Amino acid sequence: MVKFDKIHAIEILDSRGNPTLMTKVYLSDGTVGIAKVPSGASTGVNEAVELRDGGTRYGGKGVLQAVENVNGPLFAAVRSVDPLDLHAVDAALIAADASKSKSKFGANAILSISMATAVAAAQHLEMPLFKFIRTQVLKKPEKYLVPVPLSNVINGGAHAGNDLAIQEFKILPVGAGGIREAIQMLSEVYHTLGKNMIAKYGRMAKHVGDEGGFCGFGLKSTQDAFEEMVRAISDAGYTPGDDVVLGIDAAASGFYSDGMYSIDGKKLSAGELLDFYVDLEKTYPLKSVEDPFDEAAFSEFAEYTKKTKIQVITDDLTVSNPDIVRKAVEMKAGNALLLKVNQIGSVTEAIEAAKIANAADWPIVVSHRSGETGDTFIADLSVALSTGQIKTGAPARSDRVEKYNRLLEIYDILNGDCGYPGHDFRTAWRNY
Ligand code: PEP
Ligand code: MG
Repeated sequence: MVKFDKIHAIEILDSRGNPTLMTKVYLSDGTVGIAKVPSGASTGVNEAVELRDGGTRYGGKGVLQAVENVNGPLFAAVRSVDPLDLHAVDAALIAADASKSKSKFGANAILSISMATAVAAAQHLEMPLFKFIRTQVLKKPEKYLVPVPLSNVINGGAHAGNDLAIQEFKILPVGAGGIREAIQMLSEVYHTLGKNMIAKYGRMAKHVGDEGGFCGFGLKSTQDAFEEMVRAISDAGYTPGDDVVLGIDAAASGFYSDGMYSIDGKKLSAGELLDFYVDLEKTYPLKSVEDPFDEAAFSEFAEYTKKTKIQVITDDLTVSNPDIVRKAVEMKAGNALLLKVNQIGSVTEAIEAAKIANAADWPIVVSHRSGETGDTFIADLSVALSTGQIKTGAPARSDRVEKYNRLLEIYDILNGDCGYPGHDFRTAWRNY
């Protein structure tokens, strides 16, 4: 039987130049799994704890303690566990930490072993990672759905230095026949958007934000950003609302204070903000809204979900935490779940959160963080879970593009024998 041989972590940098972990899991047959941990900027208050060293090194953001925790106590906790049994590995890691928020050893440390073990186990079994998760962790038959990307082409909020309150303006290539055409469409619309903005606002408009989307120089309001997206879709030769629909991540905690939301030079109450979203839906082909209200505003999420027919994704509200997802589902506070493995700190707990959401007929959107690396785990996870949706930034910068490239590679590995949800991005998962 294959065993853990060694686990070794080092401190590396993420896409913002901040420290994170790279962890290698070595198995007794010589196979190795590597994982690099992402990191958010607009994090939810209930996320598992990302352990940082403090002090002056790297402005306090060093992860040397987390590295030591991987190499020492966490390796000791799993060394006699079967590395092919990811549930058992995660359970041993969680038990060793024993805190509710993974604050003892760090969610970043724990997650790095969870992910790298999955990669190593897949290597050992000589199968691609998505197949390992699908068949060995989920124990589901091989039938694959490659997701529609929700691609963030204009960055605002905490991810850019501009006047846009809303954090992400996203395009969804639902008219594509498959992932290859979808990614081509993303790239074409993205470049058209860039050219249009430079022509209108000057060279500064070329700059990009944390997730590779244009930083929105010159854009003064939410409406400006929507107008530019619709124009770029048309100018690239596609039909807005048919070939490409729109989404946003308001990340509204970022512009909420003292009961009011500051957006586009105004202060809106929750009710006024709800009307603002409804107006956007009427004016533009907006089909997906993430975190429309503050991360504690379960009732406002529920009110909007009741009122609208479009997708309402919970992110900071639910932080991929099974207990909080259960609460949101019960309150009908949303109708889709954003899934970020580092919010909860282990792969199998994230899968549990996904199962709870799916059981309530909520689709899943697997997501990157604004601080990323070249790690492509989430592309495989999305295909394994047949979520039908992935959020992984603009089609630019290798921290974002590597995930798109992995989706293209997965399509090739499958010889094209996989579905693409297209317009059914919210429901196609039910058949997989
Ligand atoms: C998000 O809010 O969905 C996001 C990807 O940003 P961050 O990683 O900064 O939380
Ligand atoms: Mg979000």
